[in-house]
Amino acid sequence: MFRWLAERLGLALTYEAVRVPAESLAAFLEETRAGRWDGLSVTLPHKQNALVLADRADRLASRTGAANCLVRGPEGRLVAHNTDVEGIVQALDQHGVSLGDASVLLLGAGGAARAAAAAAREEGALRLWIANRHPTRAMELASAFGGEAVPLTADALAPLFPLVDVLLQGTSVGLDAPEDSPLPPGCVLHDRLTVMDMVYRPLRTRLLRDAEQAGARTVDGLWMLVFQGLAQLRLWTGAEVGADVAPGLHQHLAEAG
Ligand code: NAP
Repeated sequence: MFRWLAERLGLALTYEAVRVPAESLAAFLEETRAGRWDGLSVTLPHKQNALVLADRADRLASRTGAANCLVRGPEGRLVAHNTDVEGIVQALDQHGVSLGDASVLLLGAGGAARAAAAAAREEGALRLWIANRHPTRAMELASAFGGEAVPLTADALAPLFPLVDVLLQGTSVGLDAPEDSPLPPGCVLHDRLTVMDMVYRPLRTRLLRDAEQAGARTVDGLWMLVFQGLAQLRLWTGAEVGADVAPGLHQHLAEAG
């Protein structure tokens, strides 16, 4: 993604994947402070610790309790950001959908779902229902973001569906499992829904295929990946990276598999 962008935008950027064991994160960040890297993308399992170990955090990183991007600033100080929230908002915006005044059902209570709950709150969603396999995690997220935890069962969800405008799928169900859906049987999707799946491998998950069949608008997880990445690139380089590059990048990543 970043090499493709650097080439298109004429940026002198090198980007490498580095495996960092959990116990080495603090030392790795010290090397970054010393100038080994100008910025970092942060992924599982480091998102929470990166926030704790950074020197400063922006509002969304603090709000979500997780950082997916670090920027090395003056004197090597590391600033933590969370661009997943922007990724979700922009991915929906790209499809003409806003969370403002929407009734939102969120599936999941892990890191991705946390960013989605923050996005719903930031954008002024009218209602936020949160359903998760382990209900206590949904309750925690609901109390942190002013939502309502609901059981991940057909009995609880089916009556909600007619009221939902946007379904945000933030569990890892469907990842590398094209026939698995996070929804219990009995939940009826409808054509007034927008369904966004944060899973992007496969691109057309079972949930998105079911939603398409019901006539719903669908947003695949690659759009979120693209927009959170564009936000990271802006933070690291200060480059003006417009949303106009998003469709080309999405196509490139989809073709690359
Ligand atoms: P995470 O923190 O590990 O959370 C995993 C979530 O999935 C939890 O809510 C967990 O429920 C739920 N889950 C796992 N297995 C389940 C099952 N068999 N049945 C029901 N629920 C199950 O992971 P994450 O970072 O939030 O990532 C979640 C997904 O989002 C991943 O597929 C990841 O690739 C994707 N993601 C996409 C982007 C993007 O840019 N598109 C960004 C971040 C993440 P419990 O709490 O009950 O265990």
